[in-house]
Amino acid sequence: MKFELPKLPYELDALEPMISKRTLEFHYGKHHQTYVTNLNNLIAETRYENSDIETIIKDADGPLFNNAAQVWNHTFYFEELIKNGKPAPQGVFAEALEKSFGNYAGFKDTFAKAAIGLFGSGWVWLVKNQSGTLEIINESNAGNPLRRGLKPLLTCDVWEHAYYLDYQNRRADYINAFWSIINWDVIEKRF
Ligand code: MN
Repeated sequence: MKFELPKLPYELDALEPMISKRTLEFHYGKHHQTYVTNLNNLIAETRYENSDIETIIKDADGPLFNNAAQVWNHTFYFEELIKNGKPAPQGVFAEALEKSFGNYAGFKDTFAKAAIGLFGSGWVWLVKNQSGTLEIINESNAGNPLRRGLKPLLTCDVWEHAYYLDYQNRRADYINAFWSIINWDVIEKRF
C-alpha cells in the first residue's frame, strides 16, 4: 500500500474533554483510515499510481480527488491539535493575524462564524494567499485550498463525524472547544 495512515502525535484520549477518545477512535481510526484505504485502491493501475498526494489533489476529480483530499485534510487537522496548547499564537504569524483580522479575538470570531455558517459537510481554512495576506475560506465536502493556489495554515473539520458523538448538533460548542487544543507552534511553522 502506497499511502499509510500517519501516527497521531498524541494518545487517543489526549484531547478530552474537548474531543473524546471515542470520537478519535472513529474519526481517526475509521474515517481517516477508510480514506487512506480507498485512495490506495483507486490509484492502483492508474496514472496516479506513483504520484504524490498533492499532485492528485490538484489534478484529479471525482472519487480520486475526494479520497486524496480527505486523507490530506485529516492528516493536516490531526497534526495541528495538542493537549493544552498555548493560549494564543505568537511572533510574525500573530502579527499577520492582527493585520488581517484586527486581533486574535477578531480572527477567532470570523473563523467561528465561517465554521458555523458552512452548510452541510466541509472544512474551514485559514490560508495565506499569493500576496502573503491571510484569509478564511470555506470548502464543501473534501475541498482543499491547494487547488486554488492558496497555502493552508489551519483547518477545522466541520463534518458531523468530527463532533457529533461529543456535541451532537452543537457545532458552535465544538468550535469553541477547538481553540484550546490548537498547537500554535505547528501553525507558526506552517506560516
Ligand atoms: Mn473528518
